[in-house]
Amino acid sequence: MNIVLLGPPGSGKGTQSRFIVNRYRLNLVSLGLILHKKSLEKNSSYNLINNYIKTGNLVNNKIIYNNLKNYFLNNNSLIGYIFDGFPRNLEQAKFLKFININYVIEFVIPDRVLIKRLLGRRIHLKSGRIYHLKYNPPKVKDLDDITGEKLVFRKDDNLRVINNRLKIYKDELFKLKNFFKIYNFKKNNGYYIIDACKNINDIYTNIISIIG
Ligand code: AMP
Repeated sequence: MNIVLLGPPGSGKGTQSRFIVNRYRLNLVSLGLILHKKSLEKNSSYNLINNYIKTGNLVNNKIIYNNLKNYFLNNNSLIGYIFDGFPRNLEQAKFLKFININYVIEFVIPDRVLIKRLLGRRIHLKSGRIYHLKYNPPKVKDLDDITGEKLVFRKDDNLRVINNRLKIYKDELFKLKNFFKIYNFKKNNGYYIIDACKNINDIYTNIISIIG
């Protein structure tokens, strides 16, 4: 089973994809996480990737393609994959032509709610675990629940960059929706829209009711 989660930054895709991975034993494909990790390494691609992320622009498709290829080489799954925030544009959607997508789930949520969520978000960099100061706080303030290591802000969670990320998302979403409109989903599979304003548990229940 392969699932695509579409949604603006802060809509909860990362949080939900972790639950889904645990329940269905899928492999998580999060280019955001892979790229964030790369942006911390001091190798040749560090500066380039860092610049894209800092400004909120989409990383060049060639870099995305190479990272995706690498991911599949090292993380083969017989059960399937969940794509968190991928594809983000039409060309990326075409990278998926060898995979049968069963479900596309679009998270819908107003900008003002997103901005509140993103400004209160903290992450554990090594694992990608996501917290929110109010809605999903760690057990001990500012520390990761599992490792006890310090939580940090994401460098792209500031208002100027958030606005750019939202704009890009909306521009590309329209084309992606058209792509999936004519996608050849198998029987009982398809494109679903969910209300991402709800709390974490309700959204999870909603997703499970779709996937079964
Ligand atoms: P995310 O953690 O999914 O919000 O992604 C953080 C940043 O990584 C984005 O703002 C982009 O710069 C980059 N990124 C993540 N996924 C993609 C993708 N599929 N295509 C291009 N850039 C991406």
